[in-house]
Amino acid sequence: MTTTKRTHTRDPHPNGGGYPDSYYVATATGMQEHPRLQGDHQADVCVIGGGFTGLSAALNLAERGFKVIVLEAERIGFGASGRNGGLVGSGQRKDVLDMEAAFGLETSRQFWDFAQAAKQEIRDRVAKHNIACDLQRGQLEGIHKASYAGDAKELSDALAERYDYPHTRALDREETKELIATDEFIEGFLDEEAAHLHPLNFALGLARAARDAGVQIYEGSRVKSYSQSDPAEIKTAEGSVKASFVVLACNGYLEKLEPRVSGKIMPINNFMIATEPLGEKRAQELIKRRLGVHDSRFVVDYFRISDDHRLLFGGGENYRRGFPSDIRGMVRPYMLRIFPQLKDVSIDYAWGGTLAVTVNRLPSVGRLQPNLFYGHGYSGHGVPTSIFAGKVIAEAIGGTAERFDVFAKLPIRTFPGGTLFRYPGMVLGMLYYSMKDRL
Ligand SMILES: Cc1cc2nc3c(=O)[nH]c(=O)nc-3n(C[C@H](O)[C@H](O)[C@H](O)COP(=O)(O)OP(=O)(O)OC[C@H]3O[C@@H](n4cnc5c(N)ncnc54)[C@H](O)[C@@H]3O)c2cc1C
Repeated sequence: MTTTKRTHTRDPHPNGGGYPDSYYVATATGMQEHPRLQGDHQADVCVIGGGFTGLSAALNLAERGFKVIVLEAERIGFGASGRNGGLVGSGQRKDVLDMEAAFGLETSRQFWDFAQAAKQEIRDRVAKHNIACDLQRGQLEGIHKASYAGDAKELSDALAERYDYPHTRALDREETKELIATDEFIEGFLDEEAAHLHPLNFALGLARAARDAGVQIYEGSRVKSYSQSDPAEIKTAEGSVKASFVVLACNGYLEKLEPRVSGKIMPINNFMIATEPLGEKRAQELIKRRLGVHDSRFVVDYFRISDDHRLLFGGGENYRRGFPSDIRGMVRPYMLRIFPQLKDVSIDYAWGGTLAVTVNRLPSVGRLQPNLFYGHGYSGHGVPTSIFAGKVIAEAIGGTAERFDVFAKLPIRTFPGGTLFRYPGMVLGMLYYSMKDRL
């Protein structure tokens, strides 16, 4: 298999393009079409974007008695929420040692507790709404570099001693290899309470729960503009909504809709493949206990076994508009670096998605004016964090802003140089760190 030719498709998210040809779409359950917005409507809250952030905000708001309309440009879960690795990690994107160094123990503990609440929210939603999204417990970080030796133990000790979290353990090389059949990892960090799930089915389940709670969902309804008035008027090509509050939940697909915050995030593309079914025995030999796994690289490799015994593997990024034309050929070498024993295995699906990162990799959640809220930039840790951001935005609109305010106070710098894949310094930085991974 050759690696990718560096030609690019024109647009990773063409208007009206529908879902990508992914494993998740092929195994989606409960997919329902929603109408396009036509004519003039009114709501208490208009949510723009039908991914985890928007759906979580909409569902929590509807449960609080608000009349909510969700406007999704494409389909529910069309964006990162329906394409991601499905890993539900503990903590924030920065680990607690980095959080302590940056903000002190008290703030670090606060964000740890938020992340615990985020995982709980996911478990609660799955149970309450009976969402069949194959939620599995257990995650392992494979440490790939000698200079990181000992980090897993330090982190595990810190979590047990300062965060009342006894669910992690540092593993030596042999213990790690017992669980993951690779020679790549010098040690491991096992987190029994982190998890993974089928992200698109989770998004579709949230959408069903939101509909049941009274939320009106419109697909194929790209918001073109909104007024900065109260109520706000939100316009699509064929309709409009007047709403007392607006929630901006477009993440890596925000583009030029809101220039006041688009500079706080940088969209990047990340890629996944799904192998052919490996059979139960071979899949279990590869990864025990169906753990979700990621490595310690800057451009992270992440992988897990699906419930039909495929290896789902994510790896590789690009920092420009558009996906490589040969995603299979691009991601497969990353998979073979970790599992060379899979060279006979064919790849059934390959797809990409766009996510948003911030300068310091912490979420960008805030309020631009009294009736306009946003949540985005979860920097690869968005499965739990976006769900939680949607919830705290709903709390703030409902009048309880304590948790929202803590998020909103995080210092999120603006990237230099405008919007949309136009951050040469940042791109160079990404390339530099991914090169260091290889050294
Ligand atoms: C390949 C990949 C792998 C990942 N793996 C993981 C992982 O394993 N674990 C993890 O924690 N995180 C992971 N992430 C990140 C995670 O998926 C995201 O952080 C999270 O899904 C963000 O959810 P969201 O709702 O904010 O954004 P999205 O799911 O991207 O939703 C935004 C939505 O807004 C819509 N939209 C945009 N503009 C408009 C408009 N003008 N009008 C109407 N609608 C609009 C888009 O169509 C889209 O559906 C991954 C991301 C990718 C791409």
